[in-house]
Amino acid sequence: MIPASGSYHLANVRLHASLTPGLAAAFDADGFALADIAVADGRISSVVAHRQSNTPAGTIDLGGRIVMPCFVDCHTHIDKGHVWPRKPNPDGTFMGALNATGADRTARWSADDVARRMDFSLRCAYAHGTRAMRTHLDSVAPQEEISWPVFETMREKWRGRIELQAACLLGIEGVRDRKWFERLAKRVAAANGILGVVTYMLPDLEELLDQVFAQAIKHGLDLDFHADETDAASAISLKKIAEAALWNGFEGNILVGHCCSLARQPDLDVLDTLDKVAKARLAVVSLPMCNLYLQDRRADNTTPRWRGVTLLHEMKARGIPVAVASDNTRDPFYAYGDLDMLEVYRMATRILHFDHPVGDWPQAVTSTPAKVMRLDGFGMLAAGSAADFVVFRGRSWTELLSRPESDRIVVRDGRAIERHLPDYAELDELMVK
Ligand SMILES: [Zn+2]
Repeated sequence: MIPASGSYHLANVRLHASLTPGLAAAFDADGFALADIAVADGRISSVVAHRQSNTPAGTIDLGGRIVMPCFVDCHTHIDKGHVWPRKPNPDGTFMGALNATGADRTARWSADDVARRMDFSLRCAYAHGTRAMRTHLDSVAPQEEISWPVFETMREKWRGRIELQAACLLGIEGVRDRKWFERLAKRVAAANGILGVVTYMLPDLEELLDQVFAQAIKHGLDLDFHADETDAASAISLKKIAEAALWNGFEGNILVGHCCSLARQPDLDVLDTLDKVAKARLAVVSLPMCNLYLQDRRADNTTPRWRGVTLLHEMKARGIPVAVASDNTRDPFYAYGDLDMLEVYRMATRILHFDHPVGDWPQAVTSTPAKVMRLDGFGMLAAGSAADFVVFRGRSWTELLSRPESDRIVVRDGRAIERHLPDYAELDELMVK
């Protein structure tokens, strides 16, 4: 359907207002308008409201199918991915995930093992229509010396298909070893990476956060936190991160993931925290599928009573940039997943109510994470940008979000790609117990 020439006209496509800045059209109540897209030499040369007549010869009529820009997945763990067959989570809890992953990392994460699983994940994401991804890399010694070089190789290998970024990942108590953490920050800076830690309530949390900010400032790094991935209302490290950002006068980008406990706190505390988060210009990413899996897991096998996700609506209402992302895939933190951002958006719509109205929620998997990741022109459809988009079958939200859209067309640089999902059997030899 999409010509291999990379130059053509698509007519009668359905575009969303939130993803098409500059399109002057009559958008309907769902935010959609019919439009025509011209592609020349792999780039979008124009996006205009649909015209019934005057279509150039050879125009392809898409019959009102939805077209979205390629996805941006700003929080993943492709160094952990796909180890489930050899290291499942024994009981579905957060502690079960932490312990199983630690044991697997120590015993099995050679450069070859990490590289092959990463490449598998990237092929999945590419086939589903993802154009940029940030992964966290477990960086507890000695893993940082194994995984960062693998990341650098993988980033080069995938350049032009998936823009890959990496953030280091370690519990914030690791910062207490100042010399080692300083070395890690240098290593991250050398790889053009992002400085990341996991925060939870420790007596010296504020001091440790100051260390993290000091290293980020020293090396000119953006920051990426895992914060408060728990139902304990006493977990307020999101607020502590915002205070530390203000206190340290930090000017880089800060992304904070999870923030689950915020949803368990009294309204007045929540409002105070959100004021600080907005003032400190933090962005927040929710990981709805992983949260649904791990949060409120009950030892007595009773039914979970909450969804596990943070307060994205309240954040967005305050102007805080909010995103959703894949997080873990087929590892002890999440037994499922395939780095399919349409699945993430579909699940987020249901879990987080990205509907009634849909509004600009589609930006949470496209242009908002692109801005956080400093990727100009990613996650939107506009004249002059690369012709990187996904053509779906669905012509409305209910059609788009009811089926897996396994037959979607992914267009990169104007051409439809081969959408080949790798076979799990490829990893069998890595999964021998
Ligand atoms: Zn994560």
